[in-house]
Amino acid sequence: MNRREETVEDRGTGSTRRDFIKTSVVGGLGTVLAAGGGLASAYGRERGSASRGQKSSKPPQEHEEKEAPKIKSYRTLGRTGWKVSDISSGDPNDEGVLRFLFEAGVNYFDTAEVYRNGRGERMFSEVFRGSSRKSVFITTKLVIGANRSKDHFLRRMRGCLERLRSDYIDCMMIHMPPSVKDLLTPGFHEAIAEMKQDGRVRFCGVSHHGSYYDDTIREPMDRVLLTAIEDGRFDLILPVYNFLNEHDGDRILAEAAKKKVGTIVMKSNPVGNYYDFEARVESMKEKSGEMYEYYSRMLAKAREKAILTKKFIEEYGLDSPGKLTEAAIRYVLSNDNVGTVILSFNTFDDVKRYVALSGTDLGSSDQGMLDDYRECFGDLYCRHACGRCEPSCPYGVPVNTIMRYQHYFDAQGREKEAMSKYAKLPTRRADLCLECEGWCERACPYGVPIKGLLCMSHEMLTLA
Ligand code: SF4
Ligand code: SF4
Repeated sequence: MNRREETVEDRGTGSTRRDFIKTSVVGGLGTVLAAGGGLASAYGRERGSASRGQKSSKPPQEHEEKEAPKIKSYRTLGRTGWKVSDISSGDPNDEGVLRFLFEAGVNYFDTAEVYRNGRGERMFSEVFRGSSRKSVFITTKLVIGANRSKDHFLRRMRGCLERLRSDYIDCMMIHMPPSVKDLLTPGFHEAIAEMKQDGRVRFCGVSHHGSYYDDTIREPMDRVLLTAIEDGRFDLILPVYNFLNEHDGDRILAEAAKKKVGTIVMKSNPVGNYYDFEARVESMKEKSGEMYEYYSRMLAKAREKAILTKKFIEEYGLDSPGKLTEAAIRYVLSNDNVGTVILSFNTFDDVKRYVALSGTDLGSSDQGMLDDYRECFGDLYCRHACGRCEPSCPYGVPVNTIMRYQHYFDAQGREKEAMSKYAKLPTRRADLCLECEGWCERACPYGVPIKGLLCMSHEMLTLA
């Protein structure tokens, strides 16, 4: 059943479970999860198990390949007319895994010039040669940098073609333009027009996952992508979409559908890693000095969340976060305005697990679990691609970008990458938050304790 048609009654025992969880907290079971202990610890560890850069699992044996799931659902990707697999792949890490994905029926692949200096493009060139090239849709992306001339973009687009060893690129996207001005960069569009005329680029698109991190004007995802949809030159968009940013996401996707702009969504899993949240707040409280009062309040919240975490894990039988991740993916696919969802596939097991979600429905128990998660933990999630509080910061701290790096570190196990990105931030960092009144926190419509989270993120991302 599409969740759009689902009624409250259809959600079965969802409200009963929420009541149960609430009652447990109010009643104060008195059991607070020890940091990193028991189920919660297992929950935390598995989160990083498929992280980028880890070795792939063993290649499947012949008998396993026969059992490997196949893509069951293909959707039309907007005005491109491409019948896209509902599950698709982000930048590849492993050639064997990439071939396995292709054999499973995945036919949309995403990369970017900036991803490890075009390594993904080169990997595609190895795997999708000859006849297989026509069976796949490859998107690559360019960041709009300082040089904005048409010739410069043409050179870079030809560079992508060379690395791909292909006569054409299915879609060339602008990668995360920080503002509408960047989105409409004349040199880029002139270059695209010429490449399209020569048959070297078939479609144009744009990706966006929130505010950027330089000193230029930063504009939110909805403003940039709604402009792109209206503009008419963009055939595809790649926004953030998940069950905790559904307000922005639903609106953008509905507008795209009206204009037949194809949609690929990313960051479908916003689930955080809170198993040692309480211990982290404890540690900050000890060091907090003038912020002691603030951290005392946060600690109370952390203890409440620890109880909720335990109840949530027990209630849904989660010995790992897999069930939650799968429900989150089903959630985005339950929106008919979504063409496909990009996922990271680092192991053969990832392929088996996520391709199996193709064509499956979001059931009422999945929906109930996500509703409970939203209610219990939604206020700890700094929404990807939000940035609404940023104008309230007198120092120009890129709140949403820092929290995205924190998510890479903590929820996705991409520690080194996250720390390196944080170290390279050219703007103010979160060390400023320690001495601040917390204007951003007052401006957050979701009640996220962002000042404290930023302080903790600073500590996490600057560990020696
Ligand atoms: S703290 Fe709140 S307002 Fe600020 S970016 Fe995060 S979710 Fe948006
Ligand atoms: S806590 Fe203060 S310095 Fe830090 S982001 Fe918020 S407003 Fe800016």
